Amino acid sequence: MDVSSYLEWPFFTPEHGELARRVDAWATAYFANRTFAEDRDSVDHACRQLVSELGRAGWTRYSVPSAGTGNADEGHDTAARGSPSASRGQLAEHGFQAERGAGDGRVGTRSVSPAFDVRSLAIIRETLARHDALADFAFAMQGLGSGAISLAGSPELKERYLPRVASGEAIAAFALSESAAGSDVAAIRCRARRDGDSYVLDGEKTWISNGGIAEFYCVFARTSDAEVRPDGTVAARGISAFVVDANTPGFSIARRIDVISPHPLATLSFDGCRIPATHLLGTEGDGFKLAMRTLNVFRTSVAGAALGFGQRALDEALDHAVNRPMFGKTLADFQLTQATLADMATDLDAARLLTYRAAWLHDTGRPCAKEVAMAKMTATESAQRVIDQAVQMFGGRGVMHGERVEQLYRDIRALRIYEGATEVQKLIIGRELINMAKKNS
Ligand SMILES: Cc1cc2nc3c(=O)[nH]c(=O)nc-3n(C[C@H](O)[C@H](O)[C@H](O)COP(=O)(O)OP(=O)(O)OC[C@H]3O[C@@H](n4cnc5c(N)ncnc54)[C@H](O)[C@@H]3O)c2cc1C
Repeated sequence: MDVSSYLEWPFFTPEHGELARRVDAWATAYFANRTFAEDRDSVDHACRQLVSELGRAGWTRYSVPSAGTGNADEGHDTAARGSPSASRGQLAEHGFQAERGAGDGRVGTRSVSPAFDVRSLAIIRETLARHDALADFAFAMQGLGSGAISLAGSPELKERYLPRVASGEAIAAFALSESAAGSDVAAIRCRARRDGDSYVLDGEKTWISNGGIAEFYCVFARTSDAEVRPDGTVAARGISAFVVDANTPGFSIARRIDVISPHPLATLSFDGCRIPATHLLGTEGDGFKLAMRTLNVFRTSVAGAALGFGQRALDEALDHAVNRPMFGKTLADFQLTQATLADMATDLDAARLLTYRAAWLHDTGRPCAKEVAMAKMTATESAQRVIDQAVQMFGGRGVMHGERVEQLYRDIRALRIYEGATEVQKLIIGRELINMAKKNS
């Protein structure tokens, strides 16, 4: 694929195009002679190495907005140009205070949240995912795992964790889900009790990516009892967020979880786990909102990753179709094949338009909850369809271990589930539409 073609779209600045080309060149060189074994130890080792290499190359700096990399509109594309990593002083200087003014791409002065450049995050994920699922995962988790600190951490917490996340020296994780609280986030039961200058955490978290290799976890826990409404649903109040270092007494990995596209994943246990009260992120009781704000930034990048997987499947399918001899011709000579390829390419471009529209809306300070949900749902569902069509086109080879399309078939599946499953995205879109209709009536 010509990596630069979609970067001509009006959502992007020239710096975005340059970023995509640089990441692509890096990944092409890095993965030229590299494949990863899928046993747990090899995957853990590969992930640690990838985070470190992505840090050295400058890409993980895009996970941390104040590292002076994120706002390509402002020409802050220092990581893409290979400049040295942001110092602690620079972090303080940028102060996590800039947020884009509504509508015009300017940086305003509201000190509400730092300015993540979601287009850069999605571009990096799309590019890495075209090359390697684990590289995409390692990059993505640095942002998701530290996002709550970027959005709501005290200056001390930002200073302590973010420079090392940006440089790839510290591995981050986001710990929200529990076995009985996945889509229904408000139902979480993990507790955090205030005790003097500390909070004491008790309970479990599960499905936690980077569980077992992360240096710290942004953990969401109840600081007051759940309010069960008359209809049985749980109110979103009373949840708070904390940073927990992996070496804190009372924290442990209860068990590791193995999935079809291997990456570090675990159930975490908190047993009288005492952390300093200063490790609270934002205001006590506002954790649900913080989790949603974090997901609203990173969901669009999940769509970016899905595009990368889907594009790789289309590239593989095209290559196979023009080379596979069949009935005295090639597979590509048949109209059924051409129609399938047309569907695949159109599905992907439609999803790409939705994805980068959502990213652009976010980056320019416009409301975008509905559009982010549309992007995440469409890109992950379309990529799944496209990859399935590629597997079909490969025939028997398509399901053979070691074939790229077989791997993509496994890599894409979880993206339709995590960070809000497709059904949850539909609920968000429906809710936004109805709210708008009620407001206008
Ligand atoms: C590979 C992987 C990595 C993950 N990494 C992390 C991580 O790093 N941190 C973290 O906190 N969590 C993580 N998760 C957890 C993930 O966010 C949850 O799996 C997800 O939110 C779904 O929750 P659940 O598995 O409990 O499924 P459930 O919530 O039980 O959902 C089951 C099904 O019900 C559907 N559903 C939900 N609501 C409705 C409704 N109102 N009507 C009809 N159907 C509905 C869902 O869409 C889904 O299809 C990860 C999960 C996976 C698979």
